[in-house]
Amino acid sequence: MPRAEERTSLGLGTKAEQFQRAAISIVLVALVLIQSEAAVAWGNEGHVAINRVAAEKIPATMPRFLRRAVAEIAYLGPEPDRWRSPSEFALKNAQEADHFIDLERVSWLDPLPQGRYEFYRKLYEKRAATPATDHPDDYLPERVGLQPYITMEVYGRLKAAFREYRQRQAAHQPTQAVQQAIIFYAGWLGHYVADASQPLHTTIQYNGWVGPNPKGYTTEHKIHGQFESTYVAANITAKDFAGLVKSPERLEDPFARYVAYLRESNGMVENVYALEKAGGFTGKGSPEAFDFTTHRLAAGSQMLLDLWYTAWTESAVPVPEHPPSNPPSKTAAPAK
Ligand SMILES: [Zn+2]
Repeated sequence: MPRAEERTSLGLGTKAEQFQRAAISIVLVALVLIQSEAAVAWGNEGHVAINRVAAEKIPATMPRFLRRAVAEIAYLGPEPDRWRSPSEFALKNAQEADHFIDLERVSWLDPLPQGRYEFYRKLYEKRAATPATDHPDDYLPERVGLQPYITMEVYGRLKAAFREYRQRQAAHQPTQAVQQAIIFYAGWLGHYVADASQPLHTTIQYNGWVGPNPKGYTTEHKIHGQFESTYVAANITAKDFAGLVKSPERLEDPFARYVAYLRESNGMVENVYALEKAGGFTGKGSPEAFDFTTHRLAAGSQMLLDLWYTAWTESAVPVPEHPPSNPPSKTAAPAK
């Protein structure tokens, strides 16, 4: 961003300055294009479609304002991918690890802890116990990824907002503001749930095969974007997988079910590589690639719809106004 006096000089308009401005514009456009290529996850189209299909399936037992918010929820599908520009460094840095989890790096940690700080602690312990020759930094939380944690945190926000909505409605208070919050949380949640249905968001094999490669899968750093962005954008729309999404189910244990969903996605990493090897994602692709991809997109919409429905159902369960107060203890951390 030029400072004020430089902006003024750019406005004078000599030939040399016009050329300079044109050159700057070209560089800026190129940077934006490079950035958006690197930032996509299921691509813009896939994220919009997953959120849209789920929103269109919201049952009549859920609030009407939410069923009418299809366009808003669809818009929010790619929202966290809009937080990855270097121009907002702190935001980009803090949230990049939310989009993935390399499950192979935590195969020793089963079940995964429910909260992110316990997860951090286990990873740092593992890192400390790993010899320097075995890449201990691979266990840094930001390298392993935080997918299930951000997802459950946004799920929690949605559930809390639904509870607030119920209370305000029961008290005949205005609900406009909480409705807006619910729509935002529901759409935001969709991003991470969708990322997790993309097998390459759950693995160290996220963009080109690493390690022993007896089947000769591609090692080029192209497959990720080719599959989730280029292929999907050119060949698949919401109507191609909407019919695969069923009525929602209440999830008994959302975290456990979500981790199982991540593991299922991770189990399909090789399918993506095999399809790529057979040319399935090139140009118009193959019927096998279409079937595989539509089922993965549908799995994303289904889990999202199930989480929305579970959050809504569970929000009816009354909670104490304040957590039960334990007797004060010297070891308890003070509330901040
Ligand atoms: Zn993402």
